[in-house]
Amino acid sequence: MRIRPVLGVTSLAAALLVAPSPAQAGGGGHAPALGPTATGYGGAVSTVDPTATAVGLDILRRGGNAVDAAVAAAATLGVTEPFSAGIGGGGFFVYYDARKRSVSTIDGRESGPATMKETHFIDPADNTPYEFAEARVSGLSVGAPGTLATWQSAARKWGTKSLPSLLEPAARVADKGFPVDATFRQQIADNAAAFGQFDATKALYLPNGAPPAVGSTQRNPDLAATYRLIAKQGIDVLYEGAVARDIVRTVQNPPVSSNPVGSWTFPIRPGTLTLSDLKNYELRYPAPTKSKFRDLTVYGMNTPSSGGVAVSEALNILETAGLSKADVTKALHYYLESSALSFADRNRYVGAYTKNSVLQKLVSDGWAKQRACQIKPGAALTKPVPPGDITATGCTPATVGGPTEQGQSTTNLTVADRWGNIVEYTFTIEQTGGNAMVVPGRGFLLNNELTDFNFTNTQAPAADPNLPGPGKRPRSSMSPTIVLQDGKPFLALGSPGGATIITTVLQILLNRVVLGQSLPAAMAAPRASQRNTAGIQAEPSFRTTYGPALTALGHTFGPDVPELGAATAIEFTRGGGFIASAEPVRRGGGAAGVVHPK
Ligand code: GLU
Repeated sequence: MRIRPVLGVTSLAAALLVAPSPAQAGGGGHAPALGPTATGYGGAVSTVDPTATAVGLDILRRGGNAVDAAVAAAATLGVTEPFSAGIGGGGFFVYYDARKRSVSTIDGRESGPATMKETHFIDPADNTPYEFAEARVSGLSVGAPGTLATWQSAARKWGTKSLPSLLEPAARVADKGFPVDATFRQQIADNAAAFGQFDATKALYLPNGAPPAVGSTQRNPDLAATYRLIAKQGIDVLYEGAVARDIVRTVQNPPVSSNPVGSWTFPIRPGTLTLSDLKNYELRYPAPTKSKFRDLTVYGMNTPSSGGVAVSEALNILETAGLSKADVTKALHYYLESSALSFADRNRYVGAYTKNSVLQKLVSDGWAKQRACQIKPGAALTKPVPPGDITATGCTPATVGGPTEQGQSTTNLTVADRWGNIVEYTFTIEQTGGNAMVVPGRGFLLNNELTDFNFTNTQAPAADPNLPGPGKRPRSSMSPTIVLQDGKPFLALGSPGGATIITTVLQILLNRVVLGQSLPAAMAAPRASQRNTAGIQAEPSFRTTYGPALTALGHTFGPDVPELGAATAIEFTRGGGFIASAEPVRRGGGAAGVVHPK
């Protein structure tokens, strides 16, 4: 998403990576600039940012595998996309091992404090939930971060290079700096009031009291030093050592500036995360969700993300409809209906502790039939639709559904190597800008992931599976997805965007598989999101193109949104090649690259 006005990708990579590989040096020519689409061989990387993609490609060129490249690119995104993701946050890593032909996952989601109660986000002064912004910019919202542990675990289990060597390219980017683009500046401007309350955040992102100018060089020597400290001392420094102490101090005693820039409406409350919460942080390795769609096997992220379950349920419902590319309106009608139904069910049933038997039921073909039988070809269901009753048989809805959230934070990357291994990785600090607190002296923002819990029961009189609890992980919508065809890789994709992640992944699959679009076309196509609310959220071009036909079927549109998601994807061609794909326009456009361009 960076448009680099100062350095081209080739010169940037050369400057940052010391010895450019022959392909980067150009061998007499020039490496192609990283745009939204790249086709070729030898491995592929797609991220939102050309620096991160260049770092990932360089690792592949030097013989690293997809996991090595993904970790190095992710560490770089922690520098160049610091408002979306970094070592202060968490995420979900999905890995396809070509030799074993198996899909594994890492749950690096943030955990709440061991002392967290259901009333975590209820103001004791008046017994009402905090405003979202008040909860976000506080110590209360911060979960124990899982991102650094994820990188180390992935590198050790499946990579070929050491974590220190994978952090170093990112440390160099942080040291030398990168040019500020319009999106980077805008993300700061949107957060100026919150960022202005903390000296460390101000110093990094509001130099002279204002966002940095487009084209200026952004450096982060503190983060470079933190990465190098981790390289030297190991990740324990962030979970038990000096960095852990600084995180806990920031959470428990938010370093509110005595000389703020701008004003903040709410009190900035301390949180309760402790050193032992960090020390006790554990990754989980859940089996991926798995479902069939036509001749495809779709693997996704299991709980605490609802992504895999919701995408699978919606695909299963779609499959009952006998869709074809000949009838786009019908395909979109079923896409919107299946999204609404699966959101109703995930809101009712899916949280960190949902029983496996319930999850299995939700992704079963039998359940899809029970839900699909409500959809009418010629008339849209009234939204919100109730969740289904999983104890019943037949078309038996239960009670009412709850609201869903939306965001634009987070980042996603897709990497494949020449051996056929794949990484699909979505990671985040929740809101763009996280909880707005840069850990003093350490150069990274803390997450506000715990605001992904529901503050109060949204499902009453039924239980809400996503209320806070001791050590619990908030439900996510992140949907890193790997699709096989006849047992071989076909497509890997994911996106940021809060709860719209689920519909963005679903819609790209619909476009590619049902409507037969090429991957770049499926990515670029206008998007809409029906998350079981009265009005569909749509990009203006979606409503202009498809609105009249869908409105005639009874669908209702809410106010337009400028854009949904910022996806990355790779398709695997029959001849062993790659189509790497990123956004052409959304979030400023992404960066796709391959090792040997065709
Ligand atoms: N925290 C969100 C989730 O886990 C992602 C945030 C976003 O993409 O805006 O689902």
